[in-house]
Amino acid sequence: MSDGCCGTTTSLEATSLQVEQPAIEAGALPVVVIGAGPAGLAAAAHLAERGLDFLVLEAGAQAGASVAQWGHVRVFSPWKYNIDATARRLLEAGGWSAPDPEWLPTGAELIDDYLAPLAKLFADKVRLGARVSAISRLGYDRVRTGGREHAPFLIRLDDGTELRARAVIDASGSYTSPNVLGAGGLPAHGENEVVVDHALPDVFGADRDRYEGKHVLVVGAGHSAATTLLALAQLENTPITWAIRAGNATRTYGGGAADALPARGALGTRLRAHVDSGRIRLLTGFFTHRVNATGQGVEVVSRDPSGHEQAVTVDQIVSATGYRPDHSIASELRLDLDPVLGSTRALAPLIDPNQHSCGTVPAHGVDELAHPEPGYYAVGVKSYGRAPTFLMATGYEQVRSVVAALAGDWDAARDVQLDLPETGVCSSNLAEAQEQRVGLATGISGGLLSTPLPLATVGATTGTGGCCG
Ligand SMILES: Cc1cc2nc3c(=O)[nH]c(=O)nc-3n(C[C@H](O)[C@H](O)[C@H](O)COP(=O)(O)OP(=O)(O)OC[C@H]3O[C@@H](n4cnc5c(N)ncnc54)[C@H](O)[C@@H]3O)c2cc1C
Repeated sequence: MSDGCCGTTTSLEATSLQVEQPAIEAGALPVVVIGAGPAGLAAAAHLAERGLDFLVLEAGAQAGASVAQWGHVRVFSPWKYNIDATARRLLEAGGWSAPDPEWLPTGAELIDDYLAPLAKLFADKVRLGARVSAISRLGYDRVRTGGREHAPFLIRLDDGTELRARAVIDASGSYTSPNVLGAGGLPAHGENEVVVDHALPDVFGADRDRYEGKHVLVVGAGHSAATTLLALAQLENTPITWAIRAGNATRTYGGGAADALPARGALGTRLRAHVDSGRIRLLTGFFTHRVNATGQGVEVVSRDPSGHEQAVTVDQIVSATGYRPDHSIASELRLDLDPVLGSTRALAPLIDPNQHSCGTVPAHGVDELAHPEPGYYAVGVKSYGRAPTFLMATGYEQVRSVVAALAGDWDAARDVQLDLPETGVCSSNLAEAQEQRVGLATGISGGLLSTPLPLATVGATTGTGGCCG
């Protein structure tokens, strides 16, 4: 029964587990969902509708805790794409009315008008303040094989509590693990000793005092960087420096008036005008290497691959370098990760930001999300790894398919469909139109592209491009 070569101890463990097995029949346990964001709560809705027992473990103090971090940002996909169909059915049965399908909600509206009421439906099946620190299988480390698929999952919380589950739907997102400033993917020297802000701060609201009158450095070449820069440029007496790895900002500027998406072109054109006028100082070929706090502020030093250094001293740093999934909680599980994106290998070619924007990602489900570890599925934005092409709507189809598979309904699980027009959901035109209608600044207008990104020369870009970067 030993999986290894030096078996006595292992064999004894295995024997005692076999004796114990009937008492811990995995099938009788709940499905544990990690994270009460849009994907996790949609999974809960599907589990509820199929009558499968479940428990949602949410690290934060509220449903949508990560969305709350960007609550001031207006999304660019309207409500009609942001509500899971099953969640809608359950909510409507309780007297809830869906918001205007064409409206682009802020993150805060997404919580107040959808996620919070949805979580409320599940009452104490959503446990707040419950941070998962590790997942394994009862009695099985990653190496041990025999009978593995029948062993319940063991989920450890950061307070030491341990729970058992028949399956795990990991919807813990990637917002809490942003990419680092360091150009090679490792933290820049000293990065952990200074304060680095997330992309898309609330420049006109809660964070105004952090930035107004300060010299701000924005690092990154995606649309989050562009939008952050355009917002900062509206603050008076606020010097702005923008640092990118590429040799020029052509990719961020887009095609201007000739751009296939006029609003995206307009965003780039506005940014270019600020750079050309000197309102924003652009540093190209900037490979962040070292960060030191000095009496004058924070010195940020770039060292390019040839060893050439340049430096800038600023008061605040905004890192808009994207996100990466944290798979460490699942390190005792058998994961098959794409070496580039950190999604499953089967999903990677479908979401590759060099080939796809969010509007061109094909429908996918349980088959593309399965790992060699039976019963463990990462879903939602975490499933995309470092690809910035995720949309809530694709996450809802993922969880529908995964839950159908857990219910044994393989026909439904494999019948994956996605009704996302290539334009209309990713188009920033909607955000621009609504901005004009209600006079609100959209956080990431232009953030999602409805056409694939142009292929960029490796080494000439900062982070991946795509939707939300
Ligand atoms: C600024 C911004 C704008 C966006 N705009 C759009 C848009 O317009 N349209 C669109 O479709 N998509 C948009 N997205 C992309 C995506 O839809 C959202 O990021 C969405 O919130 C992802 O949902 P999720 O449930 O997968 O993850 P999250 O919303 O990140 O939820 C993950 C949850 O898991 C919890 N968690 C994390 N770790 C643990 C742990 N160890 N234990 C327990 N709980 C944990 C977190 O607290 C969080 O509540 C946007 C993203 C950003 C950042």
